[in-house]
Amino acid sequence: DREVVCHASAWDLDNADDIRIKMCTQVNGDDFYTVHHELVHNYYQRAYKDQPFLFKNGANDGFHEAIGDFVGLSALTPTYLNQIGLLQTVPGEAEDIPFLLKMALDKIAFLPFGLMVDRWRWGVFNGETSPAEYNDAWSANMLRYQGLVPPGPRPANAFDAGAKYHIPGNTPYTRYFLAHIYQFQFHKAACEQAGWTGPLHRCSVYGNEEVGARFNAMMEMGQSRPWPEAMQAFTGQRENDASAVADYFAPLNTWLTARNRGKDCGWET
Ligand SMILES: [Zn+2]
Repeated sequence: DREVVCHASAWDLDNADDIRIKMCTQVNGDDFYTVHHELVHNYYQRAYKDQPFLFKNGANDGFHEAIGDFVGLSALTPTYLNQIGLLQTVPGEAEDIPFLLKMALDKIAFLPFGLMVDRWRWGVFNGETSPAEYNDAWSANMLRYQGLVPPGPRPANAFDAGAKYHIPGNTPYTRYFLAHIYQFQFHKAACEQAGWTGPLHRCSVYGNEEVGARFNAMMEMGQSRPWPEAMQAFTGQRENDASAVADYFAPLNTWLTARNRGKDCGWET
């Protein structure tokens, strides 16, 4: 009987144990994923609750988004749906490419966009981009990073960047770019710890208490240590390493390389 903000979010009400998610939940695949993503924000908050106040946060601002998506990578697998009794039979290999294409349209297509938002904003903040150039600079970034152009001519007073919530909302955006790499590093490390030998996109670490304990140990660090130490605590790596993304999508890459052979891919800026 009233207007509410349905955009899902995770909240830590008392900096201790009262953790909740707020969302307008429906029973469908999207919300099934979102519940997992949001709840993991809560698990992170609970894990670092004993840190001093200033350290009650993610190791860096990419971590909070990455850990939710990391759990989501397990939660989206048919392996997990089968483990929890939502799917009777796990689809065979023939379903791998459609699954990976769907994942790539989400995870890979996001990367250039995740990068261009702050590249545009930094140009505005350091004075390289004047107000008169705001829209042209946005379109130029779209073309440079995403290979996209506006569907028609833009008017002189257009401000397309303002349609992205995080621009007028002043929310940093590189965190999402980083999170889209970190989550695959976490997923790969978790699957290795679990002794998984199949393809990464079919790996679910659901129910593995050892992996959970190691992941929780990293989350308990909160922001008390530099982020490479938190990354190392779980993955053994101190860097941002996109090779885990390439490993996850390797079967799709092989398939696309064969399909696109002889075709002219890419664009000119
Ligand atoms: Zn989130």
